[in-house]
Amino acid sequence: MSKHHTKRESFAIGSIRVRPGSSKATELPITRLVTGAEISLPIRVVHGKQDGPTVWVNAAIHGDEVVGVEVIREVLASLSPKEFRGTLIAVPIVNVHGFLAGDRYLPDRRDLNRSFPGSARGSLAGRIAHLFLREVVAKCEVGIDLHTAADRRTNLPQVRADLDDPRTRELASAFAPPVMLHSEIRDGSLRHIAGERGARVLLVESGAPLRFDDWAIDPCVAGVRRVLAALDMIDPFEKEPPTPAVECRGSGWVRARRTGILRLDAHLGQQVVRGERLGALYDSFGKTLRAVYADRDGVIIGHTEAPLVNSGDAVVHIASIVGPPPAEPADLVPDLTSDPTNGLLS
Ligand SMILES: [Zn+2]
Repeated sequence: MSKHHTKRESFAIGSIRVRPGSSKATELPITRLVTGAEISLPIRVVHGKQDGPTVWVNAAIHGDEVVGVEVIREVLASLSPKEFRGTLIAVPIVNVHGFLAGDRYLPDRRDLNRSFPGSARGSLAGRIAHLFLREVVAKCEVGIDLHTAADRRTNLPQVRADLDDPRTRELASAFAPPVMLHSEIRDGSLRHIAGERGARVLLVESGAPLRFDDWAIDPCVAGVRRVLAALDMIDPFEKEPPTPAVECRGSGWVRARRTGILRLDAHLGQQVVRGERLGALYDSFGKTLRAVYADRDGVIIGHTEAPLVNSGDAVVHIASIVGPPPAEPADLVPDLTSDPTNGLLS
């Protein structure tokens, strides 16, 4: 790679061109609101002075998953276009309608992450998917898709990816989340279609919807920057190598076996063994109705935050660790305490 290459071309996206060594924002028109206001996809491109890969990072494909919006803001603030190698396309809010409404879905209740590849004349979700593929994904070799848990759930920071693909595995390892989980492709997801078109995609899960928690944001900011460093787009920035990710394969939800008030003693990142007590269900006077037990050995990668659960509700998500469980640290995330005032809505 030539570091003194000075004739790099401008980067074209939408109706703009971004000159090498600069950063520029644009908006790709999607549609109009019923009020007449234009709705568009906000994009910022960092086009490095020097050659390198083209990578996208996006958030809020589910409109209430705001953690990634902050992750992208912090990553962009850390970059210098003059020193950057390659091109980063940042799309902090893909589901603009859902984001405005604090809602996972589009106004017609479609899930944008089941609407790829979409088409120019399809549903609103399909049109956004199509636009995103054409203007962003088609130009990139690597993508990072930032998510949080769904409504009233929370997730340990984790990368879900095709760990059987050596290149994808390298990138997931470079991110160095507490957990990397080999996961199956979901039909119609961004990861599915982008993968078919040759991009390596990391799906990142971290935190809860409609909240900013530093424990969810910080590992992702570091992770995205580590991937950029692994791709030689930025210089390495850490003195010490990060703690390697614990690799998991297969996961499942422990379900409530009674309806009741849930008190969980277990926490995100905790390593558990099959049969371990994770909490209990109580009636409204405090009588224990039923304990909740781990149904497998593994690490807790997600749990409900709902205090009231119905029989059959998913309450704790446990992923199975590949190989011997890591002895140290016992907890993959030592401090999940967060300032309650950090909540966007609560
Ligand atoms: Zn999501």
